[in-house]
Amino acid sequence: MTKAQKQHFKQTIDAQIQTLSKEIEVLKAAVYPERGEGPSDKVAHIAFKQDQSIHIQRHAEATKRLNRLKHAYIKIDTPEYGICKECEEEIALERLELMPESLYCVDCMNELGL
Ligand SMILES: [Zn+2]
Repeated sequence: MTKAQKQHFKQTIDAQIQTLSKEIEVLKAAVYPERGEGPSDKVAHIAFKQDQSIHIQRHAEATKRLNRLKHAYIKIDTPEYGICKECEEEIALERLELMPESLYCVDCMNELGL
């Protein structure tokens, strides 16, 4: 991977961290509404509970991804970035474009069932 490519992925990761952090804030607010902003009646409460479990799940996934992105951001200036942890081949750039936090190439990911 060239320096310019690394710089590009660094910016991509940084942008995704920003976006995801905002998303997590929104989800957090949805899961834990301010006092007085919660469901007003029983029907609303049931709907709220259903939404809440979706929000909790999304929040957990977003938090996990954020951690992976932060990890990738720290790693990007090391020679390990963009190298599959399993087979030590370069991870396809198209894949990193979509998921710059990838630790494995597509083949290994499928093989490992990740
Ligand atoms: Zn691999």
